[in-house]
Amino acid sequence: MNPSILLVEDEEHLARGLRFNFEAEGYRVDVFERGEDALEQLEIAAKDPVDLVILDVMLPGISGFEVLERLRARENPVPVLLLTARDTNQDIVRGLDMGADDYLTKPFSLPVLMARVRTLLRRTTNTDEESASQRPFQIGKVTVYPQRFEIEREGERLRLTAMELSLLSLLFARRGTAVSRGEILEQVWDLHPDTRTRVVDTFVLRLRKLIEPDPSTPRHLLSVRSFGYRLEA
Ligand code: CA
Repeated sequence: MNPSILLVEDEEHLARGLRFNFEAEGYRVDVFERGEDALEQLEIAAKDPVDLVILDVMLPGISGFEVLERLRARENPVPVLLLTARDTNQDIVRGLDMGADDYLTKPFSLPVLMARVRTLLRRTTNTDEESASQRPFQIGKVTVYPQRFEIEREGERLRLTAMELSLLSLLFARRGTAVSRGEILEQVWDLHPDTRTRVVDTFVLRLRKLIEPDPSTPRHLLSVRSFGYRLEA
């Protein structure tokens, strides 16, 4: 089945343009002007889950941040791409800290948005030969399948978001050595290394729940005090 996108955007022209373009590429698209309505839809769509939410921050009624917060409070892991207003680094950081997977600042170019969406939705239909970075790898008893955006843990398959996989792959490539928060911000989120955000730590907590036998006493994804993180496979 084609991936489904839930678009929360109150600017009618923009929403119409995006819907047209996404549908032309085969996506199913639902558009909501209000965050409250989008949340309601996400609640009842449990049987046919939405694959990606594109969420404008400035909305009538509750803001995009509020939508994101409520979504994550319900432990809904759907990837969220935030559309933020121009020149508001604070908004970007706030959004990432609240669990957004990616962001674009308005105005954005359509091809860039489409590329980001493809990355967030990337799955295993790819039959190309696996490159080194896409080969499955092992962390303790967990196997990571980069091409499928999945991990397998005790026979159970769990999905990874694009950013979770990107962070895990970076730490794995450098396993045994400490990687600084600044470098992680730059490589995974394309943010300046000095950006003040907890996003790296938030994502590490998420990853620990996925890969650690006991997330409260990590054995693989280790903190390096006032520096960053180190992965021991
Ligand atoms: Ca708006």
